[in-house]
Amino acid sequence: MFDNLQDRLGGILDKLRGRGALSEADVGEAMREVRRALLEADVALDVVRGFTDRVRERAVGAEVLKSVKPGQMVVKIVHDELVATLGSDAQSISLAAAAPVPILMVGLQGSGKTTTTAKIAKRMQDRDKRKVLMASLDTRRPAAMEQLAILGTQVGVATLPIVAGQSAVQIAQRAMQAGRLGGYDVVMLDTAGRTTVDEALMAEAAEVKRVANPHEILLVADALTGQDAVQTARAFDGALGVTGIVLTRVDGDGRGGAALSMRAVTGKPIKLIGVGEKMDALEEFDPSRIAGRILG
Ligand code: GDP
Repeated sequence: MFDNLQDRLGGILDKLRGRGALSEADVGEAMREVRRALLEADVALDVVRGFTDRVRERAVGAEVLKSVKPGQMVVKIVHDELVATLGSDAQSISLAAAAPVPILMVGLQGSGKTTTTAKIAKRMQDRDKRKVLMASLDTRRPAAMEQLAILGTQVGVATLPIVAGQSAVQIAQRAMQAGRLGGYDVVMLDTAGRTTVDEALMAEAAEVKRVANPHEILLVADALTGQDAVQTARAFDGALGVTGIVLTRVDGDGRGGAALSMRAVTGKPIKLIGVGEKMDALEEFDPSRIAGRILG
């Protein structure tokens, strides 16, 4: 995870760390290297620019350059700005609403949406002791509905019985009713994915949103798709107003561009990251821990 970036930034900052004296030119040179490393990690250009400008501005201040360990101070500034870019505080899924709390899962096909729905449900049930009901709204892909049912059995979370011929909206209504009647705390609605963002997909999700009135709308995006994941998040946010992002396949993402750009570009927090195919391979996205990991 972030291996390449860790190597590159680690190398640049190690050189700085050891320096007893720094000039403005030294900081400028280091920032050019940081900029190259971030661009190679596929971080969005605007985000890279903003980041290096802020670090440079803070780092060339007299109290930094004239301090006893200026290199160390610059490294700390880089760390702080990384944390700020990643979103400052860890944000968790909110369940502060009347039960059953509806959570809408949206995203492109193949992003890991169904897997992530089951992972989150399992976590809420095991850790938070919530009674969770999951429902698949993917009416065009019976295999996706069955996949959710299989995962539900695997993790011990209830799924709404599949009724052929119902629309996504009808299933959402049935799920909310079953949630109320069954005394569930949370109802997770796994919407249909598509291969690209299209209007029919957004219209259907918007209609489901209207009837289910979700407390959270979580966009699942594949970290391996880099800036495409960020643009997908923007599109979904524009159409539906997402409340948080779950970035999947972070385990295979050596670059980290999506993770680093997501918050700054979309303004929405990454709440969780998927770090493997197993049902417990889900972690909180903690900006300071991630920044620490990137800087080694
Ligand atoms: P959907 O079409 O968006 O519902 O995608 P699926 O949930 O079916 O996931 C597609 C594939 O990605 C499956 O093989 C999952 O096991 C895999 N997957 C999902 N999340 C992760 C993750 O965080 N890491 C890894 N390595 N694989 C994942």
